[in-house]
Amino acid sequence: MALKKVELKKVELKKADSIEELLSNCPKNQTIGDNLIRAWAKINSPKYKKIMCSISGGSDSDVMLDIVWRCDKDNKVDYVWFDTGLEYQATKEHLLFLENKYGIKIKRHKPKKPIPICCKEYGQPFISKRVSECIAALQRHNFEFNDEPYEILIEKYPQISSYIKWWCNVYNPINSQWNIARNKYLKEFLIENPPCFKVSNKCCDYAKKKISKDIMLRGDYNLKIMGIRKSEGGIRSVKYKSCFIENENSYDTYMPLFWYTNKDKLDYETHFNIEHSKCYLEYGMARTGCAGCPYERKIEDELKIISQYEPKLYKAVNYIFGDSYEYTREYREFRKKMEENNTKN
Ligand code: SF4
Repeated sequence: MALKKVELKKVELKKADSIEELLSNCPKNQTIGDNLIRAWAKINSPKYKKIMCSISGGSDSDVMLDIVWRCDKDNKVDYVWFDTGLEYQATKEHLLFLENKYGIKIKRHKPKKPIPICCKEYGQPFISKRVSECIAALQRHNFEFNDEPYEILIEKYPQISSYIKWWCNVYNPINSQWNIARNKYLKEFLIENPPCFKVSNKCCDYAKKKISKDIMLRGDYNLKIMGIRKSEGGIRSVKYKSCFIENENSYDTYMPLFWYTNKDKLDYETHFNIEHSKCYLEYGMARTGCAGCPYERKIEDELKIISQYEPKLYKAVNYIFGDSYEYTREYREFRKKMEENNTKN
């Protein structure tokens, strides 16, 4: 699809020659100051000959790119973007803006299995990664979505014991993320309305993670930089305890934005004049990711935005995730009724 012509704003930018020079033009914010010192040390460490920085086009990624670009005095960093197959036109245009602003090339990579293919082959994501993974396992074993006790089910399905534990709320505490009870009335809903489409969590693996890991394992780079923030919440931020992971998969990983709060991020954006994509500035979105991902809590709001600003994408996401959207609506309606009944009783 041809990209719309982007209006490119001229931005004065200069790389610093030393950390002292960089800090002399730094906002008065301890986290940002400490972070720039660390980012400078990591990026300019002789340990790293070539570095891969993964750009998403989202607002965290914009701040991360600015930090990395300013610290990369020897141009060791290659910038990459993974096209999941369901991307906003606004994001694609923003990549052109970033290339022009920083004078860099962002290499576009396509996964072997983009989201539409994954959904067709394996199934659609529903509610969350954990829920999708568990339902997918149960479906693969022709589970009957009934309320039999754990002792009976574990005998019937010994090969999927961890998923049976999820279904029977065996983990402690009851509302742990490992139990189905974490999602209110989901079990009751699934018993009354077993899914009649395939559910799967595979698109994240194939369309996002695998491609990045494959590139790193080729050995061209020994440091990967990503834009994850602890305060963004979600499974990604919980997975990591620190901004730096040494030698996890034969390479190191660094997340410059890891400790930034929303306030730190805003301070950085204001001071360094960071401009985000149209997804934020025109569409009014608070965050971006794969367009129309069914895991998004406010998916109905997002769908309204997509239908208004990117109608072709709207058709595509409905075609790919339509069953999951409908099922999510039914589940939310069911949960609402159960809660109302509970209140009455
Ligand atoms: S974020 Fe959502 S749409 Fe994107 S790959 Fe993961 S499950 Fe699929």
